[in-house]
Amino acid sequence: MENEDLFEWKKGTYYLPRIGVEIIIHPAARVLNLEENLPAYAQSDRRIELDKILGTCIPSPLFGREDGIKYQFVIGHVPTLSPFSAAFVQGHEEGHLLSYLGYLETLRKEAQRLGYQFTFLTPEFCEDSDHRSKRMLSMRHTHADYKAIWRQEKVLAESIANVGGLVSIVKFGASEIVTTKLRKAIAKMVVDPLSEIEEIDQQ
Ligand SMILES: [Zn+2]
Repeated sequence: MENEDLFEWKKGTYYLPRIGVEIIIHPAARVLNLEENLPAYAQSDRRIELDKILGTCIPSPLFGREDGIKYQFVIGHVPTLSPFSAAFVQGHEEGHLLSYLGYLETLRKEAQRLGYQFTFLTPEFCEDSDHRSKRMLSMRHTHADYKAIWRQEKVLAESIANVGGLVSIVKFGASEIVTTKLRKAIAKMVVDPLSEIEEIDQQ
């Protein structure tokens, strides 16, 4: 990314601001969360391009860096959303990040701690996924690892990320009516569960 010095890339210990868990970023990876870099984002000469990728968690391989970083992950920022929708979307993207970085079990446990469990997010699934993700980052992966993590089936990938959105929304302080509707939509693996929430519920 150009203007690289403007941005604060995260390495090592990282506290995800929306989901609210701490992880250790794999030494071969670095993370840029644009929500945490708004002044630099405003100045970036790539802002128009970045605007098009809002609401995303993009993994990209890097080549030939001397510091050993081989992958970077950029979480978008959505300036036009309501605070409620932004809380869900940013938490959703952090959910994708946890999947890529091998911390799905951390996400599952945080959701469970808050009282939420989903049949598609079992401890066994998370353990398997986390092993595959860490092999990806260590470049010791198989093609099956690659397909399971970077080419995961869309509905499953989005449903997992939506658990991150739900955790974020709970911490944002959404009403129980809203969190219950979201939980039910996510359990049904609705890809865009926000679409099932009436605007009036979000006040
Ligand atoms: Zn997503």
